[in-house]
Amino acid sequence: AALAQIQALEPTLHSFLAVTADHALAQAQQVDAQLAAGEDIGLLAGIPIGIKDNLCTQGIRTTCASRILEQFIPPYESTVTQKLMEAGAVMVGKTNMDEFAMGGSTETSAFQMTANPWDTSRVPGGSSGGSAAAVAAGECTVSLGSDTGGSIRQPAAFCGIVGLKPTYGLVSRYGLVAFASSLDQIGPFARTVEDAAILLGAIAGYDPKDSTSIKVEVPDYTQFLIPDLKGKKIGVIQETFGQGLDPTVAAAVRQAIQQLQDLGAEIIEISCPRFRYGIAAYYIIAPSEASANLARYDGVKFGSRSEKPENLIDMYTRTRAEGFGAEVKRRIMIGTYVLSAGYYDAYYLKAQKVRTLMKQDFEHAFSQVDVLVSPTAPTTAFRAGDKTADPLSMYLVDLMTIPVNLAGLPGMSIPCGFDGQGLPIGLQLIGNVLREDQLFQVAYAYE
Ligand code: GLN
Repeated sequence: AALAQIQALEPTLHSFLAVTADHALAQAQQVDAQLAAGEDIGLLAGIPIGIKDNLCTQGIRTTCASRILEQFIPPYESTVTQKLMEAGAVMVGKTNMDEFAMGGSTETSAFQMTANPWDTSRVPGGSSGGSAAAVAAGECTVSLGSDTGGSIRQPAAFCGIVGLKPTYGLVSRYGLVAFASSLDQIGPFARTVEDAAILLGAIAGYDPKDSTSIKVEVPDYTQFLIPDLKGKKIGVIQETFGQGLDPTVAAAVRQAIQQLQDLGAEIIEISCPRFRYGIAAYYIIAPSEASANLARYDGVKFGSRSEKPENLIDMYTRTRAEGFGAEVKRRIMIGTYVLSAGYYDAYYLKAQKVRTLMKQDFEHAFSQVDVLVSPTAPTTAFRAGDKTADPLSMYLVDLMTIPVNLAGLPGMSIPCGFDGQGLPIGLQLIGNVLREDQLFQVAYAYE
């Protein structure tokens, strides 16, 4: 059924960079055989899943939507996809994304643009736009994305589905192509909170192959799906209701907060005064890390190599000039600049200090409440092409999601209504470190 839906919708949506139909059918047949033999099947047996194309899949092309990795076939499997395979999930394809996950609309993909299923003239959000559109349109049941500054939550909001960025370190990044290593996390997209809880349970947990992964027992997240919020304290981040917020988004989020109160939660206004420095700090820290991470694409070890280089330097420079798109080059240049001698203290070090202050705002908030709420994005899905000429306007879209990555906290976006044009609106829930349980409880009660 998923493959039929893909066949019907891909000519319009372009959610997938590759559809792995043969692979999917073989995996599904394996599940059938297990059932026929009376064997135990995995928790996700037969569930069609889409995988963002920055997750390494052994023997299956993994491009990061970049020319430089256009022919890259990973010799190993990422931990998350390995776990999914072991649980019996059926991968139907690799989903489109912004090149190296740098963007907020899936328009920086070197290969194609993905349409928003609710209005195909609009973007699905990004960078995990393909994963979000595919789930929203029923091309797969669930999918995986990655979130460095909002890339799961913002497309989930734009496509009207559930998206979760876990606590930094809860899910192994082994086999995730690195963008900004101190911010990147892999997480689930789903149509229901319950599906997201099941999928997170399947991918979370300590992994010796990722030195930043946390040694923690993974609970069964479905036990937290309780439709009652009595005694819960929910903080509303005042600063996220300021300038630039679309009034229809504000109204829908306010109404959702009212509903949380009706469900028994105590609503408390919370101030996070440093929230507004998020974008500025992020666009120093993330490009810095990206400039270091992307240094490996030199035409020597893997990926594409320029034709007929004259010498080594020529090979490096032409490989990178031809292989990277404009947004990726912009990030590499910013990162290299702010890390260079003489500028490091003024920019990089300063941004790290701001990051610490932002963390303290959250710590202070979580001494008073269990969960924080805000809009996920200041607007609903914008039209394709609207922001491509102005990178700064694109950067502003992640205003509300970026602080959560800088602090390493879990964040979720759940649908909370529609604007006047029938476009979905997202409510962001933010939890304290490793308090995904709280997010699931509040999200489930609301849903
Ligand atoms: N839109 C942000 C950026 O371009 C966040 C992307 C992400 O989370 N991967 O960096």
